[in-house]
Amino acid sequence: MKEYHPPLGDRSGLRLDFNENTFACSPRVLEALGRISRGDLTRYPEREPVECAVARHLGLEPAQVLLTNGVDEAIHLLCQTYLDAGTEVLLPIPTYTMYEVYASGTPAQVIHVPAGEGFRFPAEALLNAITPTTRLIAIANPNSPTGQAARREDLLRIVDAAPQAAVLVDEAYFHFFGETIIDLVGRAPNVIVARTFSKAYGLAGLRLGVLGAAEEQMRWIRRAVSPYSVNSVALVCLASALGDEEYLRWYTNEVLASRPVFEAALQRLGVPYWPSQANFVLTNIGSKHHAFVEAMRTRGVLVRDRSADPGCDGCVRITLGTREQTDQGIAALEESLAAIGWTRENP
Ligand code: PMP
Repeated sequence: MKEYHPPLGDRSGLRLDFNENTFACSPRVLEALGRISRGDLTRYPEREPVECAVARHLGLEPAQVLLTNGVDEAIHLLCQTYLDAGTEVLLPIPTYTMYEVYASGTPAQVIHVPAGEGFRFPAEALLNAITPTTRLIAIANPNSPTGQAARREDLLRIVDAAPQAAVLVDEAYFHFFGETIIDLVGRAPNVIVARTFSKAYGLAGLRLGVLGAAEEQMRWIRRAVSPYSVNSVALVCLASALGDEEYLRWYTNEVLASRPVFEAALQRLGVPYWPSQANFVLTNIGSKHHAFVEAMRTRGVLVRDRSADPGCDGCVRITLGTREQTDQGIAALEESLAAIGWTRENP
């Protein structure tokens, strides 16, 4: 297993590199932080009361819900719970890096299923790759870094075709997409849905994710979880963030308004890109991708080079923020392309 180090480093400037909320979390979270006493911190965290609130919020039973230290911990848990020697995990690629990172820490075999034309969700290829030893199928919906979404009917076909496997549908970017299969939790025993509070809610620094799954599935997953992986400060903040729907709506609407503006700018400039269902857009800058990322950095805007991802040669992923931030991003993009001598005829 290789070490994985996200390219954090000095991240001062406009952060369009990690698909976080680019602005702030709800002000109610800070108020809740201010109410925490010194005595409160002496206690071990108790996740169940907040877990109940999250379950209510998602329309699930408390027994179907597990709060985790970000979705990353949830992915780790699922790999620990389901993967063993002689089993297989199916990953459509390209996709979120941590599925492979955590799967590679188990003896299971990782099977890559390449995306179709235009990074389309490879439904048929995934169905064909399912075997009696498939134990986990991880699908980010929408996917990162491509922004592409899988159709509900395709997800249902996969869920039906693999009753021997846990099917993780990672809805980290749900708020920017709007479609979900969370209604299947409890109805289809092998469906596991993940949501994060790192994106729309703006709580990436607190590390909060949630899994929803049928109770019988959850019993297996709970065996692997550490009882205190979600800390008490995060739990207090989450309870407050859940209560501020208005703020969530405001931020989500900013991003949704930014998306067509940003995509129109890419079209005007002739930069190839893949239309996105998430809070980021994957662009194809071509051979000058490295110079482009550096030129953007010089102008105070961080973007993420994804050219090493499978099938993503020359690609750079750019996060969408508020409309004002997106205008700033577009200005830097135009200047950067000019500075590196990028033209649509000679990318
Ligand atoms: N899933 C996907 C598809 C993601 O893109 C990310 C964030 N980069 C995560 C999960 C991780 O979320 P968290 O911050 O909750 O660990």
